[in-house]
Amino acid sequence: MTRLIFFVLLILVLYYLLHYLIKDMPSSKKKVKGKPESEELVQDPYCQTYIPKQTALKKKVEGQLLYFCCDKCFKSYIQGDVKNST
Ligand SMILES: [Zn+2]
Repeated sequence: MTRLIFFVLLILVLYYLLHYLIKDMPSSKKKVKGKPESEELVQDPYCQTYIPKQTALKKKVEGQLLYFCCDKCFKSYIQGDVKNST
């Protein structure tokens, strides 16, 4: 008698396990936590703050690509740069 109960339980467990595995398969692809180069830090030449390259404000200044943390820094940098060159 106990063997039958064990057998039924085994089938139930297998059934749930199979269901769980099939259900988990598509979501497992979403779990891929790729660490792209987005963590690369760049320095704001104006306030000297380090900011992630992806969120940084990219501006070309005199042919050079510079990264700023915000538009305010970029404008201040441009103004300051003009003053320095005189
Ligand atoms: Zn800044």
